[in-house]
Parts: sequence; structure tokens; C-alpha cells
Amino acid sequence: MSTTIPDLAALHALGPAQQPTYGDRAAVDAAVQRLRSVPPLVFAGECDDLKAKIAAVSRGEAFLLQGGDCAETFSGVTADNVRNKLRVLLQMAVVLTYAASVPVVKLGRIAGQYAKPRSSDLETRGDLTLPAYRGDAVNGYDFTAESRVHDPQRLVDVYNSSAATLNLVRAFVTGGYADLRQVHTWNTDFVRDSVAGQQYEKLAHEIDRAMAFMEAIGADPDEFHRVDFHSSHEALVLEYEHALTRIDSRTQQPYDVSAHFVWIGERTRQLDNAHVELLRHIKNPIGVKLGPTTTPDDALALASRLNPDNEAGRLTFITRFGAGKIRDGLPQLVEKVTAEGVNVAWVCDPMHGNTFEASSGYKTRAFGDVIEEVQGFFDVHHALGTWPGGVHVELTGDDVTECVGGGEDLLEADLGGRYESVCDPRLNRVQSLELAFLVAEMLRRA
Ligand code: PEP
Ligand code: MN
Repeated sequence: MSTTIPDLAALHALGPAQQPTYGDRAAVDAAVQRLRSVPPLVFAGECDDLKAKIAAVSRGEAFLLQGGDCAETFSGVTADNVRNKLRVLLQMAVVLTYAASVPVVKLGRIAGQYAKPRSSDLETRGDLTLPAYRGDAVNGYDFTAESRVHDPQRLVDVYNSSAATLNLVRAFVTGGYADLRQVHTWNTDFVRDSVAGQQYEKLAHEIDRAMAFMEAIGADPDEFHRVDFHSSHEALVLEYEHALTRIDSRTQQPYDVSAHFVWIGERTRQLDNAHVELLRHIKNPIGVKLGPTTTPDDALALASRLNPDNEAGRLTFITRFGAGKIRDGLPQLVEKVTAEGVNVAWVCDPMHGNTFEASSGYKTRAFGDVIEEVQGFFDVHHALGTWPGGVHVELTGDDVTECVGGGEDLLEADLGGRYESVCDPRLNRVQSLELAFLVAEMLRRA
């Protein structure tokens, strides 16, 4: 792997997809200049730790739980919102770890997930057509001409919002909130009365007993005090990711220090394009989303370009085929990649292939389709003797009404009640916990 960082102009010369179109070059230069001078959000050594954990996933010794918003927003950087997302991820991780006896690698789609690829550059409402919303990193969600202008100053706001979020996450995961002895206190408010909440409460009692036993035989209770938690987002806006790519003083190697893990989306994974070119040069663990049009040769070419040394933990393939396509489409990919001896962690994104528009106009996903895709993913890996390494989900810690179905049987007619996502529909807290129990069951049988 090369130790140089390609220049930004050379990346732009490759014609990258899904980039902002900025009017004021001087403002872009000023924002990039500012971002080049700010301290890293993560330490390169932490990225290496995560890479070692993902290497265990690729060997079938651990399971990855990656989750968070489709799109974070600047106004969503509040204590409640960050805590609620962390809490649901901690609850899910406990369910997976305890019910399946597998170590769980916890990775938030958090502290940087602000830029979105869009299928159309424009959005029309009534008589008015405006630039599409591309995430708070690029423009505003309000449907006015002024708000939809692409503003480079927002990239500096992404950095500041990510720093504030990550600071709170770090405080929670090391300062006692994530202490396993708090396993009951995470199960408060509305979730407690749901079937999944009650199932969780039972499991939490068992964990209490197990911890009491371990303390009784002399285990150090401080062992339960902190958890490892890492940050991730889609590396989309080149100005931002490039400015935060730095040479690590320990190793003299480039790392994208905007997050521990970054991924390339389904729409920007062209082999000779800028996103692959930039991420090929960084040392972080990285992911690539693979949709149903991916051929086995595409996957192999991406692996050899992005991980020429075939380092374990470096590359995660996040498949997002859709419930109806995974059983037919995934086997050939896994078979060929495995036959070539390529080291990769396989992770299932059961969200992005299962989006549809409800009759009310809301973009939604059915909980049953999400589960069906995860089940297909497990079945395919089981049949091939490979390891279903993890799940990648869009979720929130709140009681939103964005995905239909689940134990509380949310209906299309309920979607208007609390639909808050500015982009794709997320599982709410109860649906997320239900998913964790169902996946734990699949893992137990894997
Ligand atoms: C996403 O993860 O929000 C996303 C846009 O995914 P994909 O690249 O798989 O479409
Ligand atoms: Mn999404």
C-alpha cells in the first residue's frame, strides 16, 4: 500500500459521482484549509484496534453490529439523541453477545454520517423544483432555494458536530453509562412494556446473576465498566475526507481520521473512480456496499484494488441485495471471493434493498423484509460454510414510526405519527431490539 495521499485535484479529475456543486471556490478553499488544520477525531491506533477486531469477524470469531441514522443532522446533536442511539446499540449488543455467546464488535453509524448520495439531483414539490437534499454536510433540508444551496462551510460544521457527538459517546462508553451492571437501566421508558423489552428484562436478570457469580469467584468488576465502541460513516464528500486524511506520526501511513471505519456506497464504488482511489491509500478498516448488480469479478477487483496485501480486517463487504434477491444473488459472490482466498468480513445491510413508497407517500421498509434478508444472508453463508459476519442497520433510539411491521405491528397508516428521518426510514427502538433477538437466534444456529 502506498504511503502517499493523492491530491484532491487529481481525485476530482477522475469525475467522482455524488459530489456537491459549489459556486464559490474561495469559500471551498477556506473550508478545506480550516479542516486541514483541525485535530483528528480519532487516533490511528484506535483504527488499528478496530481492524484487529474485524479480522476476528472475518475468521468467524466475532460478529459486527453496525448501526445508526441514515443521515445524522446538526440539530440532532443533543444529549438525548446521542444517548438514545448509544443505548439501543448497547442493548442490541448485549442481546447478541449473551444469547449467542459471540463477541460483538460495536460500530456506530455516528459522528460523521452527514452526507447522502441521491438517486436524483432535483426534487419537485408542486410547481417548485429545487436541488435535492444531500445531507446536512452539503445543504439544508428545508424546501427553499436558499436552504438547498450547497454550502462548503457546512463541512466545518460536520467536523464540529462529529467532535461533539464523539466526545459524548466516549464519555458514555468509558465513564460508566455503558457499564454492564447498568444493563437494567438501559431498558427504561416505552421499550420496557413491549414484548422485546420484557424478553430483554429476563435476559438482563440472567446477566446480573452471571456477573454476581463472576464477582463471587474473584473477577474484577472493573472489567465490566467500559466497552469498545467505534465510529463510522460513508466517505462521500471528497473535500472533507481528504482534508481529514493525515499521515500517522507512529507509522508514517495515511489514515482518514474523521472516523475509525469509513465505507464506499453502492453509488460510488466504480473501480477507477475517486472514492476507491482515496480509500485505497488509507490504512483504516474500510467497507464497500455491494448491491444486486455486483458481479463476482467486480467484488474481486474491488478486493484486489482496496486490499492488495489481503490483510484480514481491512475490508468488509456490506451486501444490500433486498429480501427477494439475496438468496439467488449472494451465493456466487461469496463462492468466488472465498475460492480466491480473499480475506473479507461479510456483513448484511438488510435496509437499502428493501425500501418502498407507502400509499401515503412515505418512504418505508417492512420489518418482515428486513428479517427475511438477514435470514437469507445467514442461510446462504450456512450453505457455503462461510461466516455471516454482521449486520448493518439504520435505526434510532426513539419511538419513531418509519418502518412498518414488527411486534407492535406498525401500519402504513401509522407512518405519519412520528416520521422524523430526513432520509431513509429507520427501525425504532423496539423494532431494533426485536431484530437483535431474532439475529441472536440465527447466530445460535449458525
Ligand atoms: C446508506 O447506507 O445510507 C446508503 C446510501 O447506502 P447504499 O450506498 O447501500 O445505497
Ligand atoms: Mn440510508
